[in-house]
Amino acid sequence: MQYTQAGKPLIKFSHCKKYIYSFSVPQSCPLCQQVMGSRKLEEAPVSISNPFTNGHQEKCSFLLRPTQGTFLREYDGRSDLHVGITNTNGVVYNYTTHGVQRDEAGWEQSVSIPLLQPGMFGLMDQWDKYLDDFSTTGAWLPQRYEEDRHNCYTYTLTFINCILTTEGKEPLGKDEFIEKYVVPRTRKASKYITLYRVIEERGFYVTDHPDDETNPPEGSAAC
Ligand SMILES: [Zn+2]
Repeated sequence: MQYTQAGKPLIKFSHCKKYIYSFSVPQSCPLCQQVMGSRKLEEAPVSISNPFTNGHQEKCSFLLRPTQGTFLREYDGRSDLHVGITNTNGVVYNYTTHGVQRDEAGWEQSVSIPLLQPGMFGLMDQWDKYLDDFSTTGAWLPQRYEEDRHNCYTYTLTFINCILTTEGKEPLGKDEFIEKYVVPRTRKASKYITLYRVIEERGFYVTDHPDDETNPPEGSAAC
């Protein structure tokens, strides 16, 4: 299962006045075939931040992954997503038709959102107990599960709202939560997945340099 982890790292470098994305810097530029020897500083590769993390290494976080398969391999932008909450040991609590599951594997390629502000140590000490107590209430019995109205989102959001209330903050509605936290990350993930798959297929991906003001126009008297 090569791709259950976060995937190979992606890098970006400049050559031929283009941005070239790849898994590693090639021996020669894929566009001009020139040997990529002594690189100028602006041609040095930068790593592209990976939107996926191993959810089992995240404490007190909200996690998101495709219900079936993985983001990098199977996700098509419309696939069903499944969500859960980690305890302080990376066990992922999630609600399904079988009730609350406590997964110790299967969330290795997730989008993760930390739920605790830095420094909330008191809350972190109580986290596992809160999550356990919350999960054993009658609301999350298997027979209460309803695909559209009482599902994995209801479970995580209700728990998040308990935590927000404890922190003295306003609870979030489902739409607000999805728009504010989920959509920006799935959008970023989708872009990354597109890029990743092209590189996997062709070895590299090319984009134009954006026309930014730091690049003086051709022929100008730049130093
Ligand atoms: Zn080149």
